[in-house]
Formats: sequence, C-alpha cells, structure tokens
Amino acid sequence: MRILIVEDERDLAGIIKKGLEEENYVVDIAYDGEEGLYMAENYPADVIVLDIMLPVMDGLSLLSRIRKKGIDTPVILLTAKDTVADKIKGLDTGADDYLTKPFEFGELLARIRSLLRRKSNVKEAIIRIGDLEIDTRSHEVRRAGRLIRLSAREYAILEYLAYNKDRVVTRTDIIEHIYSEDFDMDSNVIDVYINYLRNKIDRGFGTRLIHTIRGTGYMLKEDRS
Ligand code: CA
Repeated sequence: MRILIVEDERDLAGIIKKGLEEENYVVDIAYDGEEGLYMAENYPADVIVLDIMLPVMDGLSLLSRIRKKGIDTPVILLTAKDTVADKIKGLDTGADDYLTKPFEFGELLARIRSLLRRKSNVKEAIIRIGDLEIDTRSHEVRRAGRLIRLSAREYAILEYLAYNKDRVVTRTDIIEHIYSEDFDMDSNVIDVYINYLRNKIDRGFGTRLIHTIRGTGYMLKEDRS
C-alpha cells in the first residue's frame, strides 16, 4: 500500500518513511503543502499522513483542496498542539484521524492499518479469505492453519489483493500501490509474482483463491462455485 507523508521536519519525515518501508509500505514524501497537493493529486496514495504546520500551504488548506476535488484518500493529521479546537477544525475539514506530536510509531502504524481497513471491506487486523489468513500486523500468512513463507514483495502484493478482496485489481493498480514511482510499467513482473503466490497460496489446496480476470487483472476471493 502506498503512503504519502507531508511533513516539513525532514528528520521526522525520514524516520516515518524508514519505519513504514520496514512494514512493506511504499512511501512518498512531500516537504511543503504545495508539493503535497501535487503528490496527492498525481500519485494515488492509500493513506496520507499530513502535518498541519507546513510552509507554502498549510495542512488544513491542502486537505480542504483535495476534498473539494473529490479525492477521498484517508488522512491522518499530525498536530503539534493538542487543543480540542484544532482537532475539531481538522476533522471538520475532512481528516479521518489525528495524532499529536510526539507520538509512538506503533500507534501511527495501528491508525494507518485502521484507515486501510475502513477504506476497504475489511474489519479486522487479520484478513480472512476462505481458509486463508493474512495478519496485517505480523505479516504472517496461513492457509488451513499452515504457515506460508512469502518474500516482502509477495506479501505486499497479497496484502493489496486482500484489502481489495472480492474486487478486480488491475496490474496497473498493483504497480501504483506496491512500487515506487521509478518502476518500469512495461514489466510483466506482476504476472511472475502472481505465479509465485499461486504456487504458495493455492497449489495443493482444494479451492483456488487467486483468480485471473481475463484481460483485466486479478481478484482474491473465496470461490464457492
Ligand atoms: Ca511542521
């Protein structure tokens, strides 16, 4: 999943980026509000972590602009001041959540997972598709109770499919949400990874969960037919 950080404190932005990348998220950073607006409009993020006090354009103005344009990406506001008035203003402007600095990184992660679930049709930290279980906290994957070892990239693709379960996901969707912007779009690497995943997730089990939607992409779903 792709996360946009808009934060002018470069040290903090760097720490957040590093921590999120260790959790297999793809992370973009913007250091001022205008750059943040450009990124939000041109690179589809799954969650935006948005500082309020920013140069050029403040966070609330940025938020108001993207909401007016119909961009409904979940937004977590980072506030330096823990005042009720600030929180009310942020939530009324269209924020989904907020965190007061300084915050524990684990709390940011939990809030990001919560927003990712809210955006998709997933309700719990463990996503279940049939007898497949994907623990979005520990990144452990089990099928019929058996632990399945995946590479970081395989996990990222499976998690993306899982958050979008029962929906068709195109190769472009996967590339946009799993790879950083310098990725070569012509590559058929997604099909290669899907084959790896099939070998690990579906092979040897009675029912297939990873479905090819011809000419479109893929879908993770429990096939009851
Ligand atoms: Ca700031």
